[in-house]
Amino acid sequence: MNSGVRVRFAPSPTGPLHMGGVRTALYNYLFAKKNNGTFIIRIEDTDQTRFVPGAQDYIMDALAWCGITPDEGPGIGGEFGPYVQSERQAMYKPYAEELVKNDKAYYAFDTPEELDNVREQAKQMGMPNWQYNSVTRVSLKNSLTLSADDVKARLEAGEPYVIRMKMPRNHDVRFEDVIRGWVVVNTNNLDDKVLFKSDGMPTYHLANIVDDHTMEITHVIRGEEWLPSAPLHVLLYEAFGWEAPKFAHLPLLLRPDGNGKLSKRDGDRLGFPVFPTNWITAEGELYSGYRENGYLPAAFINMLAFLGWNPGTTQEIFSMEELIEAFTLERVGKAGAKFDPDKTKWFQQQYLKASTDEELAALFRKEFDVDVTDPQLASFCHLMKERATFVKDMMTEGAYLFDRPESFDEQTVSKKWKPESGALMTEWKEQLVNLTDFVPASIEATFKAFLEQKQLGIGAVLPLFRLLVTGAGTGPSMFEIAAFLGKEECLARMDQGLSVLG
Ligand code: GLU
Repeated sequence: MNSGVRVRFAPSPTGPLHMGGVRTALYNYLFAKKNNGTFIIRIEDTDQTRFVPGAQDYIMDALAWCGITPDEGPGIGGEFGPYVQSERQAMYKPYAEELVKNDKAYYAFDTPEELDNVREQAKQMGMPNWQYNSVTRVSLKNSLTLSADDVKARLEAGEPYVIRMKMPRNHDVRFEDVIRGWVVVNTNNLDDKVLFKSDGMPTYHLANIVDDHTMEITHVIRGEEWLPSAPLHVLLYEAFGWEAPKFAHLPLLLRPDGNGKLSKRDGDRLGFPVFPTNWITAEGELYSGYRENGYLPAAFINMLAFLGWNPGTTQEIFSMEELIEAFTLERVGKAGAKFDPDKTKWFQQQYLKASTDEELAALFRKEFDVDVTDPQLASFCHLMKERATFVKDMMTEGAYLFDRPESFDEQTVSKKWKPESGALMTEWKEQLVNLTDFVPASIEATFKAFLEQKQLGIGAVLPLFRLLVTGAGTGPSMFEIAAFLGKEECLARMDQGLSVLG
């Protein structure tokens, strides 16, 4: 049964979704699923100046790749839609006007130029951080200073205006954040934020509160960068006479080598992706993604879950189901979470190793065109996965399993290939010619008998065999490789190698 818990991820379509945004979506999703609740996606696109075409599709596609599936949202539906704010535009203005009527907000007619002038003057008088607030508003052009008739006339004449919050003076705003505990902010430090803009659009603050209320959101789980806005939001709930949702502000993601916020620049500098999937800007700039870098979505999600949360045990590998089971907001920390690229690769390696040979074969085929059967490809993956972090590594490491070697590892040749090696390998080849049961165990048994007979150590013989068949100095079990290639191919490769190395 649905518990009534309703949470939302509310990205603005201003570009690709940073991995910090994916983590916010993930924690919302985990919290909703853990509590038998509903996870909603809402697109906050009221700032038309920052709108980037394609960003909404990017966000939906990236979340789908991650396995973060919304219950309600654009393209999904639900009883509380539409889920894109620009499609809800008509509903915000009456709310803004209700606040004006109740003396919680006011019309302001100051033009941008007038405000620039005031700001400039203040700067020259040594006040660089001028604000439209409870002190300065008394000398500005708004419905608190102008006569009622004047205001009416301006509105009727269609003069541009904004609606601003009437911040109470010297009032302590308090709220309890699930992660941070009690937060207290005095309103003297807050300005009279614009709630409704002259372009007829609400600002983020108004739309966010109206939507969270009308969509019956119970918990607002979002990034720490929104903590400074929370007191205004709490006051807006009070002003409307609505019950505020519970707030949980997540810690920042920090870059690996310092205390700054993790950015695209850090990723470019240190060579790791900061975005879930690739994004290319209109100017052709690449924002590198985990998907295209070969990460498995489950590995990415597991890594991300640990950036700010921990289960309180030593277990590190968690499927989505296990994360849902284990997740609580109480175990999310306040301190910034340092991103660790090596740990991220480690997670990927664990998930690659844990994948079945058939799963890997299917992924491999998507990336590489190889002329082998499915079962052959699965055994190739079985051979190569221990040495790989990414699917593509199996190709880099094991291309020789598909194509005969064109060169022979120089170091091994100079260290191991002796004048008598050709004769020794010819003898070993004869043993293989006579072997009917060409499977790893039999090849290995035959090899051991051969060593015994020759009174030679493994290190004197096996590298020569590997060199002839693969051209490489190291790799997975030669007995498995030989069996994978099959008797005919293995012997042909030995002949070819012998003709080159002598
Ligand atoms: N639109 C805001 C963002 O882009 C949402 C903040 C919130 O969750 O309240 O992150």
